[in-house]
Amino acid sequence: THEDEEEDDSSPTKKQHGHGEKVATHYNTLQETGLAARSQSRIFYMRNFNNWLKSVLIGEILDTVRQSRRELSVLDLGCGKGGDLLKWRKGHISRLVCADIAAVSVEQCQVRYEYMRKRGHPNERIFSAEFITADCTKELLTDKLKDPKMEFDVTSCQFVYHYSFETQQQADLMLKNACERLRPGGYFIGTTPDAYELVKRVETLDSNSFGNEVFSVTFQKKGDYPLFGCQYDFNLEGVVNVPEFLVYFPLFEEMAKKYNMRLVFKKTFSQFFEEHIKNDQHKMLMQRMQALESFPTDNKNKSSSDNLDDYDHAKEK
Ligand code: SAM
Repeated sequence: THEDEEEDDSSPTKKQHGHGEKVATHYNTLQETGLAARSQSRIFYMRNFNNWLKSVLIGEILDTVRQSRRELSVLDLGCGKGGDLLKWRKGHISRLVCADIAAVSVEQCQVRYEYMRKRGHPNERIFSAEFITADCTKELLTDKLKDPKMEFDVTSCQFVYHYSFETQQQADLMLKNACERLRPGGYFIGTTPDAYELVKRVETLDSNSFGNEVFSVTFQKKGDYPLFGCQYDFNLEGVVNVPEFLVYFPLFEEMAKKYNMRLVFKKTFSQFFEEHIKNDQHKMLMQRMQALESFPTDNKNKSSSDNLDDYDHAKEK
């Protein structure tokens, strides 16, 4: 499963090398489809579901860290064009740093943020924000932060970390960026494809590729899954088609110990869903976000303004 919001940029980013260049160019050149077109897309519900899951995850983590601190700082690692900005607003954080390899996405994210501030109620204290374009698998974010001593309560890396598993050095630097400026007691949260599931699916088939009319996953090589650089190509209705790499979770967990991190929880999307849908608030949010096609809802005839992009906008009205 992948992003909840496609990137919508149109100009090339600064020079990148290797797959990073492909990734940046890809996200920099994706067209904005807009909500109307998107709502007709067959991946509409999946995007909404991903967005629901991120909302719940982010909300829970912010509630947890807020028990010990009032002013929260967050690093959005691989922020894209700012698909989670409104979640940070809803979570009442104080400070946000957004970083991404795709320069145009970062610009777009900043424009969205400024628009959000402009439109916000004069009494609302919207978080301050900083925007950084960087290949976070190759460049140290501390070198780019306005305040290199800045510390974070939460690092959020949504649908991004798998791009770093090209080499051990890249995966390690991404992890360093995610964790080195976390305060003691801070959290690194993220979503990434399930390597076990991907391998299980491809191994049960004769081909090196699987999928359906909506998506496909194609491994370069079957039967051999190196710990780093295990590349597969992911295609989702032509929306995402860039090389990705398997993240072998036990290795990731081990690597994170170097940065004094300990695993708090790891769940598949279906486990997360099963656990959280029992909560009435999360259930209502899911209905409002139209995150399940067959979800028992009386919202079927609602306008597109109830969809994911506008969900948070609707909340502010
Ligand atoms: N986190 C956003 C969200 O959930 O809406 C965007 C997710 S999108 C699937 C993946 C993002 O990862 C893209 O914006 C891409 O540019 C970014 N990315 C990929 N490789 C990166 C790298 N090496 N450094 C920083 N960002 C990277």
